[in-house]
Amino acid sequence: MAIVRPKQEYHERTTAQMNQHLLTPTWSLRQKLALTCRILADEEHESALAGQITARADQPGTYWMLSFGLGFDEAQASNIVRVDDDLNLLEGDGMVNPSNRFHLWIYRHRPDVNAIVHTHPPYVSALSIVGEELVAAHMDTTMFYEECAYLPEWPGVPIGDEEGRIIHDALGQKRAILLAHHGQLVACRTMEEAAVLAVFIERAAKMQVRARAIGPVKKISPELAREARDYRLKPKAIGATFHYFARKVLRTQPECLE
Ligand SMILES: [Zn+2]
Repeated sequence: MAIVRPKQEYHERTTAQMNQHLLTPTWSLRQKLALTCRILADEEHESALAGQITARADQPGTYWMLSFGLGFDEAQASNIVRVDDDLNLLEGDGMVNPSNRFHLWIYRHRPDVNAIVHTHPPYVSALSIVGEELVAAHMDTTMFYEECAYLPEWPGVPIGDEEGRIIHDALGQKRAILLAHHGQLVACRTMEEAAVLAVFIERAAKMQVRARAIGPVKKISPELAREARDYRLKPKAIGATFHYFARKVLRTQPECLE
């Protein structure tokens, strides 16, 4: 006879097993930022020098970021610099990326956000050019269900405070935003979450572009989508996914931790 239990029981059992077995990243924040750069380079997020990855440092009002002039595939812990909230260099050696100013605006207004990834990957860029919003309609991309905002206007190169305000206003309390004629941004609780969501927003856009070539997108049930979203955003699951992507990078690029 089949065993039938409430789904909640399975959720609880899975959570307990995740806590016991899944690997949790133990690298320093600076190393995790370098790993995130490498992971995203491997996932085709590299767009020459465009895009930025930042994290709130332990010292209040300061932030880690890749120094300007380097590609994501060149990131190492040693070329990640720490800056204050006016982009003055505090630690490390390199040019501070002036485009990071709009990240600071988001950090200032979203105390829950500790890491931001902004990139221009190919499929997100394709959606952004035709002016189509991201639709979370596949199990693997439900983390974006009701979590992906849309900015329909392009405010120009984001080096001033105004762009920060516009992007932050459109983002609201969500974790992700598609920026028309530009790219994507995820603003998350941890570096691991930002890395994983950045990988998956491009995969979601890729699925959507391919799916639209053969037909319209069919929406999924809100109730099931929310359940799947909360499941996929569990910190343990996010940590283990990041750990997997990091292991893949470290097999061939161990120097990124130095
Ligand atoms: Zn950009």
